[in-house]
Amino acid sequence: MPPPDQAALAAAPRFAAALREALGPAGVITDPVALRPYESDGLTAYRQVPLAVALPRSTAEVAAALRIAHESGIKVVPRGSGTSLSGGALPLADGLLLGLGKLNRILEIDLPNRCAVVQPGVTNLAISHAVAADGYYYAPDPSSQIACSIGGNVAENSGGVHCLKYGLTTNNLLGLEIVLITGEVLRIGGRHLDAGLYDILGLMTGSEGLLGVVTEVTVRLLKKPETARAMMAGFASSEAAGAAVAAIIGAGIIPAGMEMMDRPAIHAAEDFVHAGYPLEAEALLIVELDGPKVEVDDLIARVGAIVASHGGSGLRVSESEAERLTIWAGRKAAFPAVGRISPDYYCMDGTIPRGRLPEVLRRMTQLSAQYGLRVANVFHAGDGNLHPLILYDANKPGELEAAEAFGSDILRLCVEVGGVLTGEHGVGVEKRDLMPTMFGEVDLNQQQRVKCAFDADLLLNPGKVFPTLRRCAELGAMHVRGGQLPHPDLPRF
Ligand SMILES: Cc1cc2nc3c(=O)[nH]c(=O)nc-3n(C[C@H](O)[C@H](O)[C@H](O)COP(=O)(O)OP(=O)(O)OC[C@H]3O[C@@H](n4cnc5c(N)ncnc54)[C@H](O)[C@@H]3O)c2cc1C
Repeated sequence: MPPPDQAALAAAPRFAAALREALGPAGVITDPVALRPYESDGLTAYRQVPLAVALPRSTAEVAAALRIAHESGIKVVPRGSGTSLSGGALPLADGLLLGLGKLNRILEIDLPNRCAVVQPGVTNLAISHAVAADGYYYAPDPSSQIACSIGGNVAENSGGVHCLKYGLTTNNLLGLEIVLITGEVLRIGGRHLDAGLYDILGLMTGSEGLLGVVTEVTVRLLKKPETARAMMAGFASSEAAGAAVAAIIGAGIIPAGMEMMDRPAIHAAEDFVHAGYPLEAEALLIVELDGPKVEVDDLIARVGAIVASHGGSGLRVSESEAERLTIWAGRKAAFPAVGRISPDYYCMDGTIPRGRLPEVLRRMTQLSAQYGLRVANVFHAGDGNLHPLILYDANKPGELEAAEAFGSDILRLCVEVGGVLTGEHGVGVEKRDLMPTMFGEVDLNQQQRVKCAFDADLLLNPGKVFPTLRRCAELGAMHVRGGQLPHPDLPRF
């Protein structure tokens, strides 16, 4: 991260006083001990206590906090629930951490328009809970859904098991309210389907807190399917399971979810939740099919035949909702399960074309031997989204660095085979320095011009996503008046 700006550190007491005036004493934290819980997000290898934390309770308070930060030239890191696995919400020593957790109300459930209007701090799962009695749900389902906020989901364009059929966050949004760094409020989309003009809703989704702060989200609601059944089978190799995945998609079937786990992940999950996973298998495939009962019955038969013809064994199909949930329980708890077998693990997130899976797994095994670190794999197999979990012990000198280098090699491999650096966890600080492996200078400059259009002073979440932050003036997107940039005192990196 860039070295802290001494001028910002010196201005901290005045800045905090202005914030307290706008948000009240309970809305601002500066006590060093009380700041400690905010020092990291889900990527706990990186820690930094922020300059201050603001906890606004309304859009007006968010706007006030951003206006004050902008006028003071203080950087701002937005934070939802802090479950980011890419360090997106990692604080800055000279920056304000803007916690959106107190904006946690469901504002309206509008079933005739099949949408809900919610504040950004509402958890993903709370939306589905709020509409469950009416037979509706919100489809994107990150494994962290009990904790992660919808604002964070928008900023990371989060996905989950059901995104293969129902799309990522971006496909399930209708509208946003955003506060710009200047404190101005922007409303995009609404309850209608097409917003017209540039797709700023799409631009904001996945923007990792670099363009604006989301203060209200209108999400699409879906009717719960009449039936949902899960099936699972073991395979003698990941290659065979991967071939079954390709054959299912090739047959024109889009399951509600299709997930794979390798042997280490199967063992860790089975020891943890006792879901009845086949311990002799090298790979486990879980497929969920949903829709009208007759359709699901037909699809179960067709997928079962494909699985069998690719060597799948021990096929089990859920006969009740409880059994469906049991089949999923191990997969949903795979990360904490792996946490039980290793002092630390590093969760990677890359995406590859599905057909390259066997080759990528083979090379990952070679890398595992090269670095002397074990790896457990869980995949959103249908989307080609890999989550290798690299096991290490941070107390052993050099192991964290080895895990990071191993992870970088996996991501480079994803790009090499025609994939991308991230599937759903975002770039954050974790993958920032790998961006040039995927994007050329022209791409990165054009992306930064978009950043400059929203935040010309580069105050929102700087140090994330872009490997080198170019001054907007260099990119021709900032007016230099009298030979002076705005805030010439600020260090640019
Ligand atoms: C055990 C575990 C399992 C996970 N499983 C999945 C998974 O299956 N799928 C998946 O996609 N992710 C998963 N994640 C990652 C994480 O939960 C998601 O990225 C989630 O969307 C982050 O939400 P959050 O509220 O915690 O955001 P934070 O971690 O607080 O922030 C994430 C990013 O969003 C920005 N941000 C947050 N709120 C706002 C806002 N209101 N306005 C503007 N910017 C904002 C932050 O600046 C930061 O860049 C998992 C994480 C864990 C710990």
